[in-house]
Amino acid sequence: MLTIETGETATTLEPVTAANVTLNNCDREQIQLVGAIQPHGVLLVLEEGSLRILQASENCGDFLNMPWENLVGNNIDVLLGDENGKTLRTELAVKNIHKAMAHVLTLPSLSCYDQALHVFANSINGVVLLELERTDPTFQTASAVLYDLREAMQSFQSSSSLQIFLDRAVAQIRDFSGFERVMAYRFAADGSGEVIAEAKLEELESYLSLHYPASDIPAPARRLFALSPLRHLPDVDYTPVPLLPADTIASVDLSYVNLRSVSVMYTDYLRNMGVKATLVMPLFKAGELWGLISCMQHSSPLYLPFERRIPLEFLSQMVSQLSESREGLDQLEYRKRLDNVHEQLVFKMTKADSLNQALMQEETNLLSGIDASGVALLADANLTLLGKTPSPKEIGNVVEWLARQQEDVFATHTLGVDFSDSLQFSDESRGLLAVRLSRKSKDWLIWFRSELVSEVHWAGDPGKPMEIDETNGEIILKPRASFARWKESVHGQSRPWLACELDYAARLRHSIFGMIVERAWLLAQMNAELERSNLELDAFAYASSHDMKEPLRGIHNYAEFLKMEESGRLSETGRLRLDTILRLTERMADLLDSLLQYSRIGKNKLERHPCAINDLVYPCIKLIKETWPDKNISIEIRGNLPVIDCDRVWISTVFQNLITNAVKYNQQPDVKIEIGCDETCSPPVFYVRDNGIGIGQEHQNSIFELFHRLHGRNEYGGGSGAGLTIVRRVIERHGGQIWLKSELGQGSTFFFTLSPANHVRSIHHGEI
Ligand code: ADP
Repeated sequence: MLTIETGETATTLEPVTAANVTLNNCDREQIQLVGAIQPHGVLLVLEEGSLRILQASENCGDFLNMPWENLVGNNIDVLLGDENGKTLRTELAVKNIHKAMAHVLTLPSLSCYDQALHVFANSINGVVLLELERTDPTFQTASAVLYDLREAMQSFQSSSSLQIFLDRAVAQIRDFSGFERVMAYRFAADGSGEVIAEAKLEELESYLSLHYPASDIPAPARRLFALSPLRHLPDVDYTPVPLLPADTIASVDLSYVNLRSVSVMYTDYLRNMGVKATLVMPLFKAGELWGLISCMQHSSPLYLPFERRIPLEFLSQMVSQLSESREGLDQLEYRKRLDNVHEQLVFKMTKADSLNQALMQEETNLLSGIDASGVALLADANLTLLGKTPSPKEIGNVVEWLARQQEDVFATHTLGVDFSDSLQFSDESRGLLAVRLSRKSKDWLIWFRSELVSEVHWAGDPGKPMEIDETNGEIILKPRASFARWKESVHGQSRPWLACELDYAARLRHSIFGMIVERAWLLAQMNAELERSNLELDAFAYASSHDMKEPLRGIHNYAEFLKMEESGRLSETGRLRLDTILRLTERMADLLDSLLQYSRIGKNKLERHPCAINDLVYPCIKLIKETWPDKNISIEIRGNLPVIDCDRVWISTVFQNLITNAVKYNQQPDVKIEIGCDETCSPPVFYVRDNGIGIGQEHQNSIFELFHRLHGRNEYGGGSGAGLTIVRRVIERHGGQIWLKSELGQGSTFFFTLSPANHVRSIHHGEI
């Protein structure tokens, strides 16, 4: 077992070599631990600190006129001489060589080596790896290269779309490198890839838009490609040069070594493709490997010395950096359209009463501008749908699944793969872009996108990316021999979501949040305002009704006196008028009493204590029976009424009013009243049911308005029309709600709670 280091993570794995690679382990081949290099340079393994040579590549004799045996065991100064040795030490101290290969020195041609050499260094796991490569005597001046680079950059920058940019980039890289074919290759999320731009010799067959399965560039190879800015294989048919002596130290990690010998699978693969030399550079987007620039030579080997590789590295880095902004250009029009919709929706949100109204009911809505087949808005437990969407039940399941995702903006174009329950969804919902509106409640905004059947051209049969060789009685994997185009129709996917769509979703989420916060703030302000004006109103109503009672009493008394003392002198009409004055003052006194009582509810603090509702209802019943001794009234209390935290006096008033009404508005010979409480609800729901005259649907809201009566002044025993207003206010001050179920001629049931509930709607619909 070996501990290998690949990038930042260390893993312990059984080494895999070309000889024992199988279907299960080909992804684990430890290609960085090969212990060999390519022959276009030499490698020295030095002990960190002392710079004693531990290993050297077998080709030192050819390159340095000094066989490896003479080097191993000695200090590096044996090769470099004191002066260069000193310079090397300084460079190693200042350059970033840890897990990176850096150019540290150029050695002039000396007697021992006939040509000047570039020295590169990398430190890893306690060793320093020195790589030496010949300089290029034909190298043109740096200013000429810079001039060409400037031209290239200018043409990149003036490209108006990602495609034009990539086409120019591969063409420039081909000019600089001299390779017969240069391709830009983009990875998909599953590791497969596609050739998205190509510059080539005319007579070569085009690979443009061909797809390659993930196993063509397996995970270890992708990891290694990402570690260094350039990988060069000048000759596919090279003979690997071993590091010697082979058994002195454990395998050295050559992850960052340019000269590293490559996997046999890779060279076999390239040979099958008819490639003689390659040069590969990684492309990154937001720090992630998203593709490669791949250069190929088909006719002969091709070695690019360091001087000629440098501008290529530079160009590929430019491609990485500029591709994102060029991609943005492609989506510019679409982005502008979405911006416009966003702006309109934000404006609507400032005007509308609800999110639903602002985002779903207007001409410009959540389906405007965006390429989606349907949209669902789940806000405040209400689901609204537009366009083609799954059914509400299916959306409920999607929301359950979404709630388990980490992201607040979540997108997939393979819903059927990611969310197995969605398999039965119609073709209209193969992709989804979801925006979480609240972490507490299950509020989501979800766009759905329909299926896009696409045709993919593979380089060879994607179902058989490898071939199995059993000639020696052992199963050995080999790269496929045929790269003939293989067409495949892809179903069950939508078009992937674009960066600008994700961005639009995230911005909309931000705006909705802002709006919700602003609304909550405004509401809080309005509530405070309302509370203050209610208090003022209560104080005013209280003071005025209280003060008016005094003169009213005076009018009544004087009218009484007049009636008693002067009735003999009054005409019949005068007497009748006096009676009317007396009746009106009595009625006005009643109204003032009601007003006083009503304003007292708002004015005074509630005295909440645990209170057995049974004990409170019995005295009311007694009083009712005393008030109507001649009526046949039966009042049943269903079960035991609970103990509730409430203001005893006010809740007595509630029951008193409701039971009084149940008797008053009742013409049955046998008045039947039922009082009960459903404690299975939270909070418990009280009710008062009668077999009285009932209330038509159209009046069921207005009966709670102050001084509103449905009948003539003296019908049904008269009344001020304030009873139910007072009842509702008391209940609401307790945080509860009141509602009723009634039909004309069918009796009425008044329901109420005495504390706040989150699921009021479900209570409303509940039958007791
Ligand atoms: P009041 O009884 O003083 O008129 P309320 O505010 O208590 O005032 O009731 C308002 C109106 O609602 C009543 O005038 C009556 O028409 C109607 N109402 C109230 N309770 C009942 C009931 N249990 N059955 C039928 N109608 C009712």
